[in-house]
Amino acid sequence: MKYREIKRCKNIKVSEIALGCEGFIGKSRAEYIAMTDKALDLGINFIDMYTPDPSFRDGFGAAIKGRRDKMVLQGHIGSAWENGQYLRTRDVAKAQKAFEDQLKRLGTDYLDIGMIHYADGERDLDEILNGDFIRYCISLKEKGIIRALGISSHNPIAARRAVETGLIDVLMFSVNAAYDMQPPSENVDDLFEPENYKKGFVNADPNRTALYELCEREDIAIDVMKTFGGGDMLNAELSPFGVAFNEYQCIEYCLTRPAVVSVIAGCHSQAEMERLSGYYSASREEKDYSAVLSKMDKFKFHGNCMYCGHCAPCTVGINVADVNKYLNLSLAQGSVPETVADHYKLLEHHAGECIGCGRCEKNCPFGVEIIDKMNKARDVFGY
Ligand code: SF4
Ligand code: SF4
Repeated sequence: MKYREIKRCKNIKVSEIALGCEGFIGKSRAEYIAMTDKALDLGINFIDMYTPDPSFRDGFGAAIKGRRDKMVLQGHIGSAWENGQYLRTRDVAKAQKAFEDQLKRLGTDYLDIGMIHYADGERDLDEILNGDFIRYCISLKEKGIIRALGISSHNPIAARRAVETGLIDVLMFSVNAAYDMQPPSENVDDLFEPENYKKGFVNADPNRTALYELCEREDIAIDVMKTFGGGDMLNAELSPFGVAFNEYQCIEYCLTRPAVVSVIAGCHSQAEMERLSGYYSASREEKDYSAVLSKMDKFKFHGNCMYCGHCAPCTVGINVADVNKYLNLSLAQGSVPETVADHYKLLEHHAGECIGCGRCEKNCPFGVEIIDKMNKARDVFGY
């Protein structure tokens, strides 16, 4: 397992592969404990707990008893349980009651990440950001009851607005190659609607690309939901591309987007956890999403770096994907942000070392003019 840092909270490192909570629901107490044992054995230390279902909180609380410090817990604020049903709420009294109940059932007095639950619409965001709800969330952080504040969303416009407040440390966002093509919408169902993929697309939606780049520049960590598009990406008949990806290609796609620290998968069994952890022993070919994306007729990714790393190895050792990423972050900003300059400096080889041999361009499945990019990066960074 590998780990990535929540940069705004120096001491939180999360496993690149994380758990959702849906796979626990309905299981016995012994199964909760066995699933948690297995996760920790595999090095999975991160879980998202969107559900307000008390049975999950009781079961998982029992499973982490005596080892709370081994897990990074992401719990939601504004996800409540009322009359035996899930409720999304911005009512502070209800949110507070649900949040306190969550801590009590989990047997902890803090969460590592407090995630404002599911904000896709402008009006909802207004209600969150301009009222008591955000003050409640900030107070949780000030008191150390949450260590980081996050927000979950499927809409890049709403997410961007939230991120731009400067209050957000972590964004939980739906990322996969299909959703990345869709224009912003306040209706999450648009992402699942086959009609919306019929016309085909050229390159990823610029709003999503801009959101990922903004988060990377501002050190805001993205943890990913819908990595497999609810399973559709894995099925040729259901995939909007008409081609099935495998799980490792989906994970690799997400982990190579800027700012992403972790993909959350709703494993229902220990075997599923083991299979996903096989990502680390999978071959380069098994993880290569570019093999699928570059062969589609209706969906074209062309001329834009997808950070797939397929162009490696460079003759002089330049990490072309990373150089392109830092170049794009700087071009989007109009100047080189200090954090990006630091990251660029840490690269072993820099764009200025490019000898223009063209080897990489022959290997790029997306027709990126890499030599031009290296020249541009040399001009932008100065070496
Ligand atoms: S330049 Fe091409 S091959 Fe290299 S990382 Fe970008 S898209 Fe992939
Ligand atoms: S053209 Fe430049 S970046 Fe590409 S392989 Fe040659 S030296 Fe490396």
